[in-house]
Amino acid sequence: MGDIIGLTDEEQLEVYKAVVDLVRSRIDKAQSVKKRKKLNPVTRKAGLGPDSDHARWAIGEIKALLYSYRKWVHSIVMIGSYALGRAGRHSDVDFLLLLKKGEKTRIIRSILFDYKLSFRCDDENRDPVEMQIVDFNERDIERVFELSTPLAYAARYGVVIQDDGWFKTLLSRPYPKWPTRDGAVEVFTRWIVWMYYRCAVDLKREMAEDHGPDGLCTQNGKCMGHFSGDILARVILRMLYVTLPERGLLPLCKPEAAAMALDVYGRHAYKPVALTMNVLRKDRAITYHEFQVLFPFAQRLFRECLRICGHENPKVIEALRYNAEIYKRLGNR
Ligand SMILES: [Zn+2]
Repeated sequence: MGDIIGLTDEEQLEVYKAVVDLVRSRIDKAQSVKKRKKLNPVTRKAGLGPDSDHARWAIGEIKALLYSYRKWVHSIVMIGSYALGRAGRHSDVDFLLLLKKGEKTRIIRSILFDYKLSFRCDDENRDPVEMQIVDFNERDIERVFELSTPLAYAARYGVVIQDDGWFKTLLSRPYPKWPTRDGAVEVFTRWIVWMYYRCAVDLKREMAEDHGPDGLCTQNGKCMGHFSGDILARVILRMLYVTLPERGLLPLCKPEAAAMALDVYGRHAYKPVALTMNVLRKDRAITYHEFQVLFPFAQRLFRECLRICGHENPKVIEALRYNAEIYKRLGNR
């Protein structure tokens, strides 16, 4: 890892260098695990499941909330760690909400948005639990299934709470059996590139300034925490959802993604993976030291994602160029 202090223009275009590195050095393929498609991707370990108090509370809550709008709802599916019986005490209860076409979709979305903050069970006798709801209309969820993204699998292994038959029909259609390359490219160009740049350039610069001779953290005597640090944890998780399927593993929830990452990347990944999960769970800022633990791992995953998506893919080049331009301009302010 290079020194973080003293950011140069060169560092701002670090990702471009990564591309060049890729061309020069051959990626060690020996590490990659062959696709184990026959393996059941759901590795069940004991945890809270759909019958737990938390999950039942959340199911009651979402049903009550959507009761008046049920005419416009196709299906409600519980997904993620609770659906798989792998939830920990701090896991969110995740739902996939499938909406019918039409104007009402927008209204339901705004209701979900407004109520988001109150989706929290704070019974003092138990741990607080939060609900997360992702909603899709017909066309968008079909796209998810066409690309066969990890979310499509989470839905397949989900627990159906309510369905008018539309979700059942969706599951019966012949979609690809494994996450597709197009799906990886889409998530890479839409999300991963800007999030990674934000951390590799912006956050790095902020750290360098705050920890420089006159920096805020230096004057404070210890690191005060850097708020956009959670983006680094989020992009690491997103990248794992691209790299793990390529290595034959398909995580259906965060605890599985963490366990599989340790399996694939070995003991050196332990610190960054554990830290990523901790930051995501607490939705918190990170310190300078934590950045130095997380960033090299993110860098490694980013290179792997680039290889997977193809660094000669025009969409990939366009996304890299676009983001590099933005940060080059910001850097020259
Ligand atoms: Zn700091």
